[in-house]
Amino acid sequence: MQLPYDFPRASVQPLIRPWIPKWRLEDLALWGGPPAFPEPLHVGRPNIPDRRRFFERLEDILDRRWLTNNGLYVQEFERKVAAMLGVKHCVAVCNATVGLQVAAQALGLEGEVILPSFTFVATAHALRWLGLTPVFCDIQPDTLTLDPDRIEELITPRTSGIVGVHVYGSVCDVDRLEALAAHHKLSLMYDAAHAFRCSREGRMVGGNGQAEVFSFHATKVLGTFEGGAVTTNDDEVDRKLRRAISFGLNREDEVVAIGTNAKMPEVSAAMGLTALESLDEWLAINRSNYAAYREKLEEIPGVSIIPFDGPESRNYQYVIIRVDEERAGLSRDTLVEALRAENVLARRYFYPPCHLMKPYRPSASGEPATLPVTERVSSQVAALPTGTAVGPSEIQQVCQLIRLCVEHGREIGERILLRNRVPALPTA
Ligand SMILES: *Cc1c(COP(=O)(O)O)cnc(C)c1O
Repeated sequence: MQLPYDFPRASVQPLIRPWIPKWRLEDLALWGGPPAFPEPLHVGRPNIPDRRRFFERLEDILDRRWLTNNGLYVQEFERKVAAMLGVKHCVAVCNATVGLQVAAQALGLEGEVILPSFTFVATAHALRWLGLTPVFCDIQPDTLTLDPDRIEELITPRTSGIVGVHVYGSVCDVDRLEALAAHHKLSLMYDAAHAFRCSREGRMVGGNGQAEVFSFHATKVLGTFEGGAVTTNDDEVDRKLRRAISFGLNREDEVVAIGTNAKMPEVSAAMGLTALESLDEWLAINRSNYAAYREKLEEIPGVSIIPFDGPESRNYQYVIIRVDEERAGLSRDTLVEALRAENVLARRYFYPPCHLMKPYRPSASGEPATLPVTERVSSQVAALPTGTAVGPSEIQQVCQLIRLCVEHGREIGERILLRNRVPALPTA
């Protein structure tokens, strides 16, 4: 396979790291030896765009002394994102968490809101912070997104809306959610933090529901240090969003609604515009990283990579594996522990699911939510390092480590148990 690594710009070349080959159980750093990688391999290491272009923009911002409040760079960034996604309006914001809040407010959400538990906790926090009650719904086992068949049983007279999450860039069943929302007169919006430049049936994410919320956090495929955007085709929602992100002010500087400060500063927009210029290269690297992982992992029993097949546009922001403990002989947690010892900082993403986190666990008297698919998937998944800081030789080594762990799965499990056992007190 031809890998697109012959870029002239240093910024898109992966770091070349020396690594220690490991072939035997005894080589594993779990037992105290040196890690395979002398330096950590991170999930979500930021992609850095052309810094000369970024500094030029930054100089211009400083020369103009227009640092924030809907500046020229924010306006250009919003135009370019809207055009790229084929959506009428894009409102740049300071981050996606606050973006979710202003979107929820613009849609008039109140009372209970249905959302998946299998998401980053920010989705739930954003709603709870507004005084809304998150009602967690299970996911489909194949797409890992909201299960439309499980939604109606959760609707009560207090339900006002549905928030879908395009987990790992796997786009929700937007048609069925749309139909459900329309039938029950509910609002519908999406957390699209994972889905920048992902499509469903050829349509880019951005125009689904009444609003979609993107994250441009440094760890996402397109980073603006901190940042995000809310996109919508609805003029009224756009008007409310623009008001909300700037203290509830209208164009005449009258306060006409409760607002907050969710503005994206110019420096972030400059970073975003520069990143957009490298985005196609980054997506190509992510795609070949994904293909390299898939090829190597295919041969390992019990470990599978979440498939992204077919003609849709994907960002491959995350490489997610599922560990079937029965077949692999070791659990996801043990595998992650072994990889982390080797400086492969794999992450349990998402674990635990939101409904089992302390602030969202039902009170002692309440019925605990049972979300069997969510709980099973959450115990099996792990994110592996990808992005422009990772190249084919590292991927080969990461996969070799996984293979080694699976080959000795049961033995590793037993040795960890022994190691963690508290030594018995000496008897006199
Ligand atoms: C990253 C992320 C967020 C939060 O984005 P911020 O821009 O960091 O606030 C929300 N939801 C999901 C699914 C995310 O991955």
